Amino acid sequence: METRGPVNSDVKKEAVPEKSNKKEASSKSSTTAPAITSTATGTIAITFDDGPIKEATEEVISALGTEHATFFLTGKSLVSDPKEQKRLVELELSKGHQIANHTYSHEPFKKEQNEKYGDLSDPEKKKEFLENFKKNDKYFKKFLADSSTKFSGFELARLPGDGKMMKDKQGHHTFIDSLQNDLGLVHVGWDFEFAPNGVMSTHLKVFDWQKQEGVASEVSGLPKDGDVVLLHDMHWKGKGSILKKLIDFLKTKFKLGKLNKSGKVS
Ligand SMILES: [Zn+2]
Repeated sequence: METRGPVNSDVKKEAVPEKSNKKEASSKSSTTAPAITSTATGTIAITFDDGPIKEATEEVISALGTEHATFFLTGKSLVSDPKEQKRLVELELSKGHQIANHTYSHEPFKKEQNEKYGDLSDPEKKKEFLENFKKNDKYFKKFLADSSTKFSGFELARLPGDGKMMKDKQGHHTFIDSLQNDLGLVHVGWDFEFAPNGVMSTHLKVFDWQKQEGVASEVSGLPKDGDVVLLHDMHWKGKGSILKKLIDFLKTKFKLGKLNKSGKVS
C-alpha cells in the first residue's frame, strides 16, 4: 500500500482529482462508462455517511454481508424514531462495523459556514463548531449506554458537506486541525464516491461504472490502493441488490479493509 501523507494532503488530492480521470468524467454525461481493464489490487475502505436511515441502513448492512464498513453517523438523522435508530446502530456494531462522528445536526459546510466560523480564532465560533461533534458523541454514548454492544466514544470524524476543503486565509485546514487538537478526533476524508445512477449527478456523471448496472461514480477508473470510498445509506433504499453486486465486484479487485485509529486504510 502506498504511504499516505497527512490528512491535509488527502484533502488537497480530493479537491483536485487526477487530470486524466477528471477529463474523462467531465466529458461524459449520463452515459455508460467504458469498462477499464485493470490489474489493480490493494486495500480500500468502504464508508457510509449520514445514517442511520430508516428502511435503508438495514439493506446496506445486508448488502455488505461479512465485509466491513465504517458508518459516519449523525444523531439527528433518525431522532424522530430513537428505538429504530438504536436498533440500527446496534446492528452495525454487532456485525463488526465501525461507527464514526459526522456531527449531530449535519449542517453542511459551505462557503457561508466558512465565513461563519472563519478561522476559528473567535472562541465563541470555535465552541459552536466543536459542540456539534461533542453533542453527537454524548448522544450516542448515552443512547448506547445500556446496550450489549460496546461503544466508548468516537475516534474518527468527518466534516459534513464541503468541510474538508475549507481553509483559512493562510491555507490551513483549521476545522480538521481543531477536531484533532481540541477533541482528539482524527478526520477522515474520502477519495472515491459511489451512488446509484442519477443521484448526486452534479459530480457523479459516469453511469454504470465499470459495467456495474445502476452504479454511478465520478471517474470511470478504479479506486487506488489505500482509497477511502464514500457512499450514503439513504441512496440505497430499495437498491440493496445493486449495492451487493457493487460490493462483490469491488471484492474481486480489492481487499475491503478497515480504517485504523489514524484514519488510514489497513
Ligand atoms: Zn454527510
